[in-house]
Amino acid sequence: MTPSVLRLTAAELGARIAAGELTAVEAAQAHLDQIGRVDGDVRAFLHTDAEWSLAQARAVDARLAAGEQLGPLAGVPIAVKDIFCTAGVPTTCASRILEGWRPPYDATVIERVRAAGLVMIGKTNMDEFAMGSSTENSAFQTTGNPWALDRIPGGSGGGSAAALAAFEAPLALGTDTGGSIRQPAAVTATVGVKPTYGGTSRYGVIAMASSLDQPGPCARTVLDAALLHAVMGGHDPMDSTSIDAPVPPVVAAARSGEVRGLRIGVVRELGGEGYAPGVEQRFHEALDVLADLGAEIVEVSCPHFRYGLGAYYLIMPSEVSSNLARFDAMRYGLRVGDDGTASVVEVMRATRGAGFGAEVKRRIIIGTYALSSGYYDAYYGSAQKVRRLIAQDFDAAWERVDVLVSPATPTTAFRKGERIADPLAMYMSDLCTIPSNMAGNASASFPCGLAPEDGLPVGFQVMAPVLADDRLYRVGAALERALAERWGGPLLDRLADGAAGTYLGVATAEGN
Ligand code: GLN
Repeated sequence: MTPSVLRLTAAELGARIAAGELTAVEAAQAHLDQIGRVDGDVRAFLHTDAEWSLAQARAVDARLAAGEQLGPLAGVPIAVKDIFCTAGVPTTCASRILEGWRPPYDATVIERVRAAGLVMIGKTNMDEFAMGSSTENSAFQTTGNPWALDRIPGGSGGGSAAALAAFEAPLALGTDTGGSIRQPAAVTATVGVKPTYGGTSRYGVIAMASSLDQPGPCARTVLDAALLHAVMGGHDPMDSTSIDAPVPPVVAAARSGEVRGLRIGVVRELGGEGYAPGVEQRFHEALDVLADLGAEIVEVSCPHFRYGLGAYYLIMPSEVSSNLARFDAMRYGLRVGDDGTASVVEVMRATRGAGFGAEVKRRIIIGTYALSSGYYDAYYGSAQKVRRLIAQDFDAAWERVDVLVSPATPTTAFRKGERIADPLAMYMSDLCTIPSNMAGNASASFPCGLAPEDGLPVGFQVMAPVLADDRLYRVGAALERALAERWGGPLLDRLADGAAGTYLGVATAEGN
């Protein structure tokens, strides 16, 4: 069977559109149809508007017809996490407090994606204000993992990852503060990259923890992620922490996939006891694959990584408590109790009480406490010292190796509801991903197989030094090629073909 439009990679889709074999409108319509078919079950999208998407697609077709050179992703649909400001289009961060708000401007990343001719196909579900690891903290809906709909798709960017795995979009945008791109990628067998901090612009991205937040690409293939990374990355004067340097050569790295002689450090502290057996098994098999390809594998100790989670859950809420102060009932979205007699403080209190969910409130309270004058040094101050020690562990590692690797998550996708009553169990999902946010280096998750015990995806995490994001793509592309040979094709094809038992109707849907 010829691959349907839905089964094409973003690179292939872009090539067909550029060659005039397919229009941007047809590509958008095929994905809108798929959303119509499967999103009642998957629930990856918070907002779609066919007319909005088709109007963008028509404009791209017109620009291409006029001979404009738009680059390799022109006409390719993209799903957008609902944390990115999209001018005139609802942007809720999955919170009641922003219900009905339409931003007056586009985030820089959105501007760049539009300029490159990508077509936004909808806004995706997430944990409220990106706080969570399961997308269950969304105020509006839970999202199913397309591999097993009763399982979580990861979080906070579960909607973007699920949209990719359900073939509702070939590309998506995410943000990663403690793992929100990589953990959803790991549990859905998709590719998720957290660029170097400062490598992609945060302007117009609703802030969670500003010193950690980083937008990044989500895709089904390594090359697709690199193509999107190249479009969205690069210096932005509107973001004061943006690095004034060219985007690392990510596309060339994804095309090369050369790992011969690459020194790969396995982080001793991430893995082993407490990790699911299937996660460990697939991770070690992937290491063997890389060794066979000529990479040099050594063990590296990063002793302070074990304190990462604790320090993150002080630094992140501290920044959250400050960033979320702007939702004051006056400027955006919801306003509760404004009956003409209530004081400003009463309206603010009522609005924040009604508008924020439990996890958001928990973090605002923890952060406010950690920053209070009597406790500042003991909590926030100590956490900052741990952050420095983690960065020093990375620096020491880079003296010996080119990249570090670990499982991306300790377990595969857990069941919906399983961890929602136990915040600490939920926080453990980010054990492996947090160190890279703390140090600001580049990091990614790539699919490395299905765990034998439950048949669910396992993610392989690669970490690279600041501005060496291209190394992630070299390792990812090497793994992708070698493993596709072993599996007889990309892992996600099995899902589309129904072999995983969750048939989404993709393979046959393309009578159209
Ligand atoms: N799961 C982590 C948290 O809840 C990470 C969130 C994120 O990266 N946005 O904080």
